[in-house]
Amino acid sequence: MLNRPKKSLGQNFLHDQNILKIIVKQGNIKNNDQVLEIGPGTGNLTAHIISQKPKKIFLIEKDKVLSNELKKRFESKVEIITNDILEISSDFYKNKNFIIFGNLPYNISTKILTQFCLDEFLLVTKLVLMFQKEVADRIIAKVNTNKYGRLTILANWKFNIKKICDVSPNSFFPKPKVQSSILEFLPKKKKFLIKDPKNIGKVTNVFFSQRRKMIKKPINILFKKSFDYSKFNINPFDRPQNISIEKYFEITKEFENSLS
Ligand code: SAH
Repeated sequence: MLNRPKKSLGQNFLHDQNILKIIVKQGNIKNNDQVLEIGPGTGNLTAHIISQKPKKIFLIEKDKVLSNELKKRFESKVEIITNDILEISSDFYKNKNFIIFGNLPYNISTKILTQFCLDEFLLVTKLVLMFQKEVADRIIAKVNTNKYGRLTILANWKFNIKKICDVSPNSFFPKPKVQSSILEFLPKKKKFLIKDPKNIGKVTNVFFSQRRKMIKKPINILFKKSFDYSKFNINPFDRPQNISIEKYFEITKEFENSLS
């Protein structure tokens, strides 16, 4: 018998077969695809992924007990990496092109997504990820709303994002306290050109660390010299949530130019 689910590792195992089928179907796995699953846990989703016969399956699971169970159950069908997804070096992603699945541990889901958005070596065909609904709502938020923020901008820089469905707490054991949502991320064919993605991270961080303040404050922090508001058609008295995604990209480019 497995140990009790660990709250500290965000362990809420998905057992709803309908939802598991929806997730795998959305991945549209072909025979020559490489799949990466984050936090496979007890292997509920893994079994469905294996049934689609991808070329290769990598699992990253931090919990040693679960990882050993997965080894016993799936043996040669998968390659298991017993580690923290946040500690995986960028080298691992080099020269691979993954379909990534993950019913993410909710306590670190925004960190995982941010890392995926900013890692230059991560090449993906598609991501199908489960978040708590509140976080998913922030990822797909519209400008001028309270949910719009850093995560919206980072995620939309690299991906076209679509919501697949909401998932009730009843689909999990143990039941989480919150609703969940599944999102699909497809890489943009043409990303807005940024020299170093970390700079979008930095710019959005400075703007949204004080999201109620007027934007002249973050602008003054980022741009030591003068800043031409009219060039961007924005107003120093706007709030961070009033600036469109594309304008954040343009401001980041301006920031990069100001550094050189
Ligand atoms: N995908 C499974 C389990 C989801 S629960 C299912 O749908 O049933 C989240 C899983 O992520 C757990 O197995 C947990 O041990 C694992 N996990 C938590 N933090 C992690 C981390 N930092 N890196 C990798 N896996 C992690």
